[in-house]
Amino acid sequence: MKISFDLDDTIISINKFSLEKESFWSKIIGAERIRLGTIKLFKELRTQNHQIYVYTTSYRSKVRIKLMFLCYGIPVDFVINQYLHEKRIIKNVSKFPPEFDIDVHIDDSLGVEMEGKKFGFKTIIVSANDENWVNEILEKIDIVTTSKSSMV
Ligand SMILES: [Mg+2]
Repeated sequence: MKISFDLDDTIISINKFSLEKESFWSKIIGAERIRLGTIKLFKELRTQNHQIYVYTTSYRSKVRIKLMFLCYGIPVDFVINQYLHEKRIIKNVSKFPPEFDIDVHIDDSLGVEMEGKKFGFKTIIVSANDENWVNEILEKIDIVTTSKSSMV
């Protein structure tokens, strides 16, 4: 499956959750730090043959986002930032994952969850203070994968 992740307050935040230890490269290029558990989560999703996308409403450049994850040894496949979103999505919606063939989008925003219900896309919502977020996502991805394969 293609799985996308929000950045702010889902993967990146200065004070809302614990962070991964800075890597050698992240220090060198001054990359932003990522949420504790992200490395384990992304590696596990890779093992399960999922593709990892980033879908953010921020204007961070695609290169900067890709490099940030590379620094931690967890490359992402595709980045949708606000520039690309504005270019591709005409609907009045903050995110629209189906446009990019994304199967499930992970976010902290209840607004995005509501948009998912309204426009028919799957979301997994994790709050910034959920310390068990990695396992919860993996469990929910499992359910989505199983329901998807049983539909075929
Ligand atoms: Mg967010």
